[in-house]
Amino acid sequence: MAAPRVAVVGAGLIGLSTALHIAEVIPSCCSITLLSEQFSPNTTSDVAAGMLIPHTYPGTPIHVQKQWFKETFTYLFTISNSAEGSEAGIHLVSGWQVFKNPLEAEVPFWSDIVLGFRLMSAAELQKFPQHNHGQAFTTLKCECPPYLLWLEKRLKANGVQIQTRKVADLWELHSEYDIVVNCAGIGARQLVGDQQLFPIRGQVLKVHAPWVKNFIRDGDGLTYIYPGIHSVTLGGTREKESWCLSPDPGTTKDIFDRCCSLEPSLQRAQDIRVKVGLRPSRSCVRLQREVLSQGGAKLLVVHNYGHGAGGFSVHRGTAKEAAHLVGECIAALEGSSSKAKL
Ligand code: FAD
Repeated sequence: MAAPRVAVVGAGLIGLSTALHIAEVIPSCCSITLLSEQFSPNTTSDVAAGMLIPHTYPGTPIHVQKQWFKETFTYLFTISNSAEGSEAGIHLVSGWQVFKNPLEAEVPFWSDIVLGFRLMSAAELQKFPQHNHGQAFTTLKCECPPYLLWLEKRLKANGVQIQTRKVADLWELHSEYDIVVNCAGIGARQLVGDQQLFPIRGQVLKVHAPWVKNFIRDGDGLTYIYPGIHSVTLGGTREKESWCLSPDPGTTKDIFDRCCSLEPSLQRAQDIRVKVGLRPSRSCVRLQREVLSQGGAKLLVVHNYGHGAGGFSVHRGTAKEAAHLVGECIAALEGSSSKAKL
């Protein structure tokens, strides 16, 4: 049987990391092409803050989410400790998650994966007079465009072909590819008609405030201050079912005021840039094999989309699972080709 031809649709974080994982674990036995309508800096992944603090997917068992987070954290921590760390834009950041009300579970499921997780002391809480509980820990942050460009560079080094192409229907790829991996983010709603997938609009500000060194996240996750290498990300909003990609000036002021109330020194922040992205949201990530067929012809599909507010936190874990599903598709193709020879 000829080497299976694999197409990965989507060049956001999920498509790039999935294509890279396939190239790393299934080398030489397949050819891989990445097809995407948009590339960095024009994807949702470019807008994200890139913090590794998990979002919870209600439709996925916690032990699975924990495993995805652990794999992602371990992978990025290794990169951050290597000579590649600065080019890949991955760095450690320490800070606080603060709450106004007592928590149901004071220790989240990911507390033993981030570094140095502990409850905040009374002295630390003095910094936040409106809050009376908090957690302190060190986690990782990806600088989004540099990390996406680093992934793209790794793909090219692994022989993956990259093409700009909008795919209107997965079936249009059936004569050119044996397996298609769908990593189209919010684009999957139109591409495969998934009505369970919906946008949650997020507006953020990127500001120059190099004196801010620690992250601060208000417990409900709506207001946050995430310092990166070149700018500080201030957030945010969560607007369910809004498809609007234009920044809203009233929202910009509201985000800025909320962040200043957590960290008053931000009043002096300069060079405010506003970004908007649509989180591809679902009750669970769709990680699944599917067989499309028409008139006796078949196309094997692996879906990997719907990462919502937490793609950066789990991307390596879901890429690993998608690559495993691609491996199963290759085995199925090999099985059917040897049966055909008999
Ligand atoms: P995208 O980045 O949207 O990529 C989809 C790709 O598919 C694009 O290249 C697109 O062009 C392509 N495509 C779509 N349809 C087609 C088609 N028909 N044909 C060809 N190509 C197609 N997550 C965290 O873990 N931590 C954070 O701190 C964080 N902060 C965030 C802040 C904001 C404001 C937002 C909006 C999101 C944030 N996220 C965060 C979530 C994270 O950004 C997403 O989970 C992640 O970027 C989703 O990646 P994706 O590759 O699935 O989607």
